[in-house]
Amino acid sequence: MLYNRPWPAAAPATQIRVRLPMTARKSASSAPRPASGKASGTRTAAGARVMQRLEDLAAITETPGSLMRRYLTPAHHKAMQQVEAWMREAGLSTRIDAVANVIGRLEGAKPDAPAILIGSHIDTVADAGKYDGNLGVVAGIEAAAALRGAGLRHAVEVIAFGDEEGVRFPSHLLSSRALTGAVKPSELETVDADGVSAREALMKLRLDPGGLRACRRKPKEIAAYLEVHIEQGPVLQAEGRPLAAVTAINGATRMRVGVTGVAGHAGTVPMKLRRDALAAAAGMVLAVETVGAEAGPDLVATVGRLEALPGAPNVIPGEVRFTVDVSSPSDTTRARAVKRIVAALKDIAAARRVKLATEIYYDAPAAAMDARVVEAVAAAIAATGHTPLHLASGAGHDAMAIAPHWPAAMMFVRCKDGISHHPDESITTSDADVAIRALVEAIRRLDAEL
Ligand SMILES: [Zn+2]
Repeated sequence: MLYNRPWPAAAPATQIRVRLPMTARKSASSAPRPASGKASGTRTAAGARVMQRLEDLAAITETPGSLMRRYLTPAHHKAMQQVEAWMREAGLSTRIDAVANVIGRLEGAKPDAPAILIGSHIDTVADAGKYDGNLGVVAGIEAAAALRGAGLRHAVEVIAFGDEEGVRFPSHLLSSRALTGAVKPSELETVDADGVSAREALMKLRLDPGGLRACRRKPKEIAAYLEVHIEQGPVLQAEGRPLAAVTAINGATRMRVGVTGVAGHAGTVPMKLRRDALAAAAGMVLAVETVGAEAGPDLVATVGRLEALPGAPNVIPGEVRFTVDVSSPSDTTRARAVKRIVAALKDIAAARRVKLATEIYYDAPAAAMDARVVEAVAAAIAATGHTPLHLASGAGHDAMAIAPHWPAAMMFVRCKDGISHHPDESITTSDADVAIRALVEAIRRLDAEL
């Protein structure tokens, strides 16, 4: 993705999907392992089945030996068919829409009853883990199966989105946005690295891109949206809890910064005559960290990439380029921090007599979750005997696309050491089991309340 490409990343901003890790991918082996689930932990059949299905899905890959399943590839198609088969087995009627979303429906009291939609994605990054996205789909099928014959007023729909990671096409949540009517036909003309357009890739799967408009769901058709997802961060593990109710998905600002000084011979230019772009940038990196730390616990600020030019041991760096990523559940807090960072960078540039250029290339508002749905999730977690944590999501999710249109919330599941987008991604069977029980309970509560 972005950081695999040569600088500068010329791709459209929407192609850049950088997870905002709250921890390094690899962390110290001394970190505590997730506690095994207590509270009726003996009943783990559903959890075990979900874990087995996640293993089965992980075997469906473009790259034998590691997991990569990009949107509209043969591997994605095979996973769609597997998911559809499990949906049918669970008693759901199924269909695949024009953008390759697999949708399974359990009817409610009336045939046209609005649906409680349970979704996540089955596409993955390269060298991916087994749980990101896939867990939410498989858990949704398990929950729907458990609710068969429960006499719910609402329908329950499980949906497997296909384009969450944005790895293949320069699109952004194309499959979940299709439900909201936000995808323009021209977006299907975007091409992958081989020059294949999304339209062509859909047709190769025998889907009809002309059906894009029909993917749109009427406001009345959906009562609420729920997404179960691994946390992709270390907080649940640190707090010793299996599940959290997600209150918001962070907004993010990403900026490119250029610092221009004067290159010169490292052996001949005296210190007092230098305009060293890298020394200036070093101060700027620390300023970004300081603003992030002072903005409060709800904001994170990161310099994730830095390049010094010309990059020779005996040359004073004349030019430095780096990125700044700022993320927060509060748009106001984020905007204030970005302003403070730019001001701090300007001060440093002036003091060191270097030129500064800043460019915001990505700016996405936070997505608030619906308070009622969040509380249903929290109450459902509590009903399983665990204390719910409330967390904001530092990573993007399909729920971002849905939340502006329907009441939405997410449930996070503890993952080992907060690792994600990596083969070491891991959850426990008992946590999977308690997540399914909480999901079933949340659906029951929403069915009664909405
Ligand atoms: Zn995901």
